[in-house]
Amino acid sequence: MSNPVVGILGGGQLGSMLSIAAKKLGIRTIIYCEDKDGPAQYFANEYMVGDYKNEKKLSEFADKVDLITYEFENIPFDTLKFLNNKKKVLPDPKINKIIQNRLSEKDFLNKCDIRTTNYAYIKNDGDLDSNLNLIPGILKTCTMGYDGKGQIKISNKEEIENLKIDFNNDYILEKIINLKKEVSIIITRFGHQKYEIYEPIENVHEDQILKSSKIPSDISEKLKDKCTNWASRIAEELYYIGTMCVEFFIDKNDNLFVNEIAPRVHNSGHLTINSHNISQFENHIRSICNLEKIETKKIENARMINLIGKDIEIYRNKKLNDNEFFYDYLKKNVKEKRKMGHLTILEK
Ligand code: ADP
Ligand code: MG
Repeated sequence: MSNPVVGILGGGQLGSMLSIAAKKLGIRTIIYCEDKDGPAQYFANEYMVGDYKNEKKLSEFADKVDLITYEFENIPFDTLKFLNNKKKVLPDPKINKIIQNRLSEKDFLNKCDIRTTNYAYIKNDGDLDSNLNLIPGILKTCTMGYDGKGQIKISNKEEIENLKIDFNNDYILEKIINLKKEVSIIITRFGHQKYEIYEPIENVHEDQILKSSKIPSDISEKLKDKCTNWASRIAEELYYIGTMCVEFFIDKNDNLFVNEIAPRVHNSGHLTINSHNISQFENHIRSICNLEKIETKKIENARMINLIGKDIEIYRNKKLNDNEFFYDYLKKNVKEKRKMGHLTILEK
C-alpha cells in the first residue's frame, strides 16, 4: 500500500512540526484550519482554510485524506464526529471530548484513581461562596483555555465580590498548589501495552505560559517512575493512539498531581526533535499511520526555551553555536504572549 495522506486539523506550529515529521517519512499532509495566516501553510503539502462548522468544506477535506488527526484539542466535538464518519480520526474523538472539558477531564482522572488538585464545578456566585475551602484558587473556564487564557486567580474571599465573571461560561475552581516543580510526560501509544515514553521533562511556566523545558528533570527516581506509570495508565485507559502529554504538579511535600492532559503533541516535547532519535512528532505520525514502532532513545540532554512575543527578534539575526537549534514559527505578526519560536540547546 502506498503511504497514507494525513489530514491535520489546526494550522499552528504543532501542525508545521507534524508536517515536517511526516514529510521525512514520505507522508503527505493536508491542513484544515480556520486561520488563513496559520504557519503550517509553509510546511504542509496543502492548506485548506475553512470554518469548523462548514460541512461541505470538511467533506472536501475528508475526501482528500486517508486519516485525520488534530494539533489542538479545542476543535468542536461535532466537527470531529462528523469527520470520523468519513475517515478515521485519531486520537478518537471520544477521548477529545473528555479532555477538552476541564471538569470531565478531572472527573475521569479521579475515577482512574489518579490524583488531581481539589476542584469544584462553578456555575454561579453561590457555588463560589460554598467552595471557600478551595481559595486561594484559580477559576478556569471548563473549555477553550490554553496558555493561561480564561483563568482568574482568587487569592482571598474578599476578592470574589469584585470579580466580573461571565456565567455564560462554565468554570471549575481549583485549589492553588504550593508548587515545587512542574514536569510532563510525553507518551506515544501504538496499541495495547505498546508505548514509547520519553523521560520526564521539567517545565518552567511564567505568567501561566511555558517558558522553558529540560531533560533530565531534577526529581527523584521514585517520582519519575510514578509519573511514567500514571501516564501509561491514562493512555491505556483511553485506548489512546498517537502522542499525548500529561502535565504534572509536584508540591513542596513531593506529592504528585496530574494537572492536565493534552491529547496531542506538546510544547514541552519540542526538545525531542534534537535530543532523541525519534521526535514526539514522528512517533505521532508513526502511531496513527500504523508504521513500525522504533525504540526511542535519547541522544543528548537538552533544554528548550520558548521565544515569546518580541524575544524572537533577537534570535532572527543571532549567530548560533553548534549545539543550538533555532525554530522560527514564521507567524505573521509578533504579539505579546504569543509563542513565536523556540530555541533548543543540546547539553552534555
Ligand atoms: P493551560 O490549559 O492554559 O495550560 P493550566 O491549567 O495548565 O492551563 O495552567 C497553566 C499554568 O498555571 C500551570 O502550568 C501552572 O504553572 C499554573 N497553575 C495552574 N493551576 C494551578 C494550581 N491549581 N496550582 C498552582 N499553579 C497552577
Ligand atoms: Mg497547561
